[in-house]
Amino acid sequence: MLFCVKRLLQNQQTSKLPKVKGVARMDKALWDRCVEFHGHECPGLAIGFRACEIAKNELHLTFSTDEEVVCVSENDACGVDAVQVITGCTAGKGNLLHKDTGKMAFSFFNRKTGKTVRLILNHLPETMNREERQKYILEAPKDQVFTIGKPKFTVPEYAQKFNTIICEKCGEGAAEPKIRVHNGKKVCLDCAPDYDIRW
Ligand SMILES: [Zn+2]
Ligand SMILES: [Zn+2]
Repeated sequence: MLFCVKRLLQNQQTSKLPKVKGVARMDKALWDRCVEFHGHECPGLAIGFRACEIAKNELHLTFSTDEEVVCVSENDACGVDAVQVITGCTAGKGNLLHKDTGKMAFSFFNRKTGKTVRLILNHLPETMNREERQKYILEAPKDQVFTIGKPKFTVPEYAQKFNTIICEKCGEGAAEPKIRVHNGKKVCLDCAPDYDIRW
């Protein structure tokens, strides 16, 4: 793999794209929309962008207007913004979930077909500068950029709507699963005292 990367870099340096079957032709207009949403272009955004482009093909995804597509992101870095723009998996709809392993991995679920895919970024050579990294992530053959497999977890449940409970101490409302009982009173997390001794 390292050999291929080196060759690819050499080719880029002579401003010729490698003649490798499967080299991505990126959707520039969509990339521009992601950059606009995110605020700047960067290799991190490129990771999310490319992961979505591959997932769209593999799972025949269209923009998720409700929760028919789910993304589980294993990081909260720049790439998550591309996921929101391209797939419609958003924090607000509850179909973008954060699994905090700190890995550059994204899993996608198509609830209509049951198809799933997990992509994790391969190690990139340290020798690439920022610009080269971004170009490589966007344009190199997909199997060089990511290891593509299946998630080891099943599709998460649909987002639920919860009753709002009014905190008996401060009067603010909070979702039912976040309420604690303290001295027999229902209280919010801000008003519940910390109690953290355990073994
Ligand atoms: Zn960024
Ligand atoms: Zn409270």
